[in-house]
This record gives sequence, C-alpha cells and structure tokens, in this order.
Amino acid sequence: MKKILVYQRLERPVLQELQIKYDVRFFNDPNPLSNREFVSFLQEADGIIGLELEVNKTLLDHAPNLKVVSNVSVGYNNLDIEELTKRNIMATNTPGVLTDTVADMAMGLMLAVARRIPELDQFVKSRQWTQSLTEEQYGTDVHHKVLGIIGMGRIGQAIAQRARFGFDMEILYHSRTPKPEAEAKYDATYCTLDELLQQSDFVCLITPLTKETEGMIGKREFQLMKPSAIFINASRGKTVVESDLIAALKEGQIKAAGLDVFTKEPIEPDNELLDLPNVVTLPHIGSSTYETELAMSRLAAENLEAALNGQRPKNLINPSVWETAK
Ligand code: NAP
Repeated sequence: MKKILVYQRLERPVLQELQIKYDVRFFNDPNPLSNREFVSFLQEADGIIGLELEVNKTLLDHAPNLKVVSNVSVGYNNLDIEELTKRNIMATNTPGVLTDTVADMAMGLMLAVARRIPELDQFVKSRQWTQSLTEEQYGTDVHHKVLGIIGMGRIGQAIAQRARFGFDMEILYHSRTPKPEAEAKYDATYCTLDELLQQSDFVCLITPLTKETEGMIGKREFQLMKPSAIFINASRGKTVVESDLIAALKEGQIKAAGLDVFTKEPIEPDNELLDLPNVVTLPHIGSSTYETELAMSRLAAENLEAALNGQRPKNLINPSVWETAK
C-alpha cells in the first residue's frame, strides 16, 4: 500500500477517501523534522499532500521514495521547485478553484478598512454608541476610487471585476506583462509599479511570493503612495517589508492597511501591527470557506493520485519531470 503523508490541512471527506486506498499519516508539527515519527514515515512516503510544509533539500534528503508533493494552495513558495525537479519529484498546486473566494476576501478587507467596520463593530458592542457619531469616526469611500492591483493574474483580475462593476472603481494594474484582454474587460490601465503607487487610492498586492517579489513593497514604495492610500496585502507576508509597513502606518505615510498575511504566521503576539488602530488583520483566510477548502482538497488529492498512478497531474508545476518520466 502506498504511503501518503498529510501535513497540516486536508478536508475530512477527502482525507477519508485517501485512507481507504493508502496508508495515510497526518502530521501538524511546526518543526516536523524534529519529530521522529514524521521523519520515519517520510523515509517511505510516496506522496505528500498538505499546506505550507517547507519542502527543501534537507527535508528531501529524508524522502528517498517520494514521487509527488501536492500543495493544497495556489501559492507554492514553500516548495523548492529546483530541488524537487532535480530529484524527479512532481510538484502540484490548486489554482483557479479559490480565485473568487480570495477576491471576495480582498474586497472585504478594502471595505472593512475604508469603512472602519471592525473598529465600529467594537464601538457598538462595547456599548459606547450612546449618541450620534463624530467626524473622527467617519470612514472613506471605496466606490469611484482608484484601485491599483499589483499582480493581475487570476485573483487580481477577479478583484478588478468586482471593483470595476460592483464599485465603479477605476482600475490600474501592474504585473510582469501587460494584459490586453483584462484591460478591455475591466477598463484597466497598465502602469509601472511607481505610477500605480503614486496614483492609487487603494493598493492591492496579490502576486506570488518569489525571489523577485520578496520585499517588493518597502520604505521607498510606501513613500510613493498617497498619504490617504489604503494598502491591502492578500499575497504573502514576505512580499512586504513588515517593519517598513509599520513605520509607514505610524508616520502617516499611508492612511491604513488591511492584511491577510504576515511575515511570521501565526502572527507573533508582540507584532506592532496588532496595536495599530489603522490596521485590520485576518488570520490568512483568503481561501478559507467551506466550499473552497473542500474544492482545494479535492483538486490536490486528484493531482496526488494522478502522479501516483503514472498520469500527468492537472496542475503540474514542474512539467519537465513528466517529460523525463515519459
Ligand atoms: P497567478 O494567476 O499566477 O497571478 C500572479 C500574478 O502576479 C501575475 O499577474 C503575475 O504577472 C504577477 N507577478 C508575478 N511576479 C511578479 C513580479 N515580480 N512583479 C509584478 N507582478 C508579478 O496567481 P493567482 O492565482 O492570482 O495567485 C496569486 C497569489 O495570491 C498566490 O501565488 C498566493 O501567493 C496568493 N494567494 C493568497 C491567498 C490568501 O489566502 N491570502 C490565497 C490564494 C492565493 P504575469 O502574469 O505578468 O506573470
């Protein structure tokens, strides 16, 4: 029976289906390589499926039998693709099925920050709403403002669609390559990163985390933004220099931020972001709805099983492994 290592998260119905066909073991240690049971199972594992396991050279040295690593996420910054490819191990992810859900969350963050929803919710629940609001409690409009999207891929375009047609926003975008189709569909304008930062009322970051995007938004970029700008990070924490973000928020270089992702997750209790009134935080919930988590688990399991059964997985990240195997 083939051995499958499940890490951190896989929805129960999918886990149960895999358990019928494979020898499945679930692990959730933050430092799995210090768990002897993990290392011993890894020695024989044919496949890994799960979330955010750091799959690097050190881990792979303990996995001589591995054929596939199936990520239950679209981002795969936790995988050393070069090292996996060198060892002829397939890597897969779950693009598409989460696009609308993440875009909804990004719009939710924009609204929450601009209209100060979490703060005013607390105001009401703490029984302070005893007379009409003061001007200091007003929010700012989202509709008809300028939204700059950095990373005009699947999720970026789904955000553009909501913002353009739901909120009459003007869309600016920046990605590695222009997207003429998206420009036509959403009246979107391609900009350099600097132009986007200077002109946007809302800046939404939704690129993958790669060597190029790590720290792409830092001191210089916050200085370019309007003092009234609202910054949304839905990508990965490390695309932003967090200390520079904190400084920008404290010094009023930007007005506020909505953050789903952080440099260290779960967030450290002493992270200054937690004490800033102009920040709305979420615990990395971009794709966390019942429907979408299940769809991601199912797609990840399909990818895993295809690889184990000698078929080409639908969402293969390193196709050269398949070409070599043919
Ligand atoms: P995608 O379709 O591959 O889109 C990524 C976009 O980022 C593309 O437009 C790409 O530009 C752009 N990009 C890549 N490198 C860039 C760079 N150096 N400078 C500027 N733009 C760059 O991916 P997706 O499905 O939309 O997902 C995007 C990311 O969202 C994921 O990788 C993940 O990190 C994040 N995410 C977060 C959550 C959450 O829970 N918060 C959930 C899902 C995904 P080109 O098209 O020109 O290459």
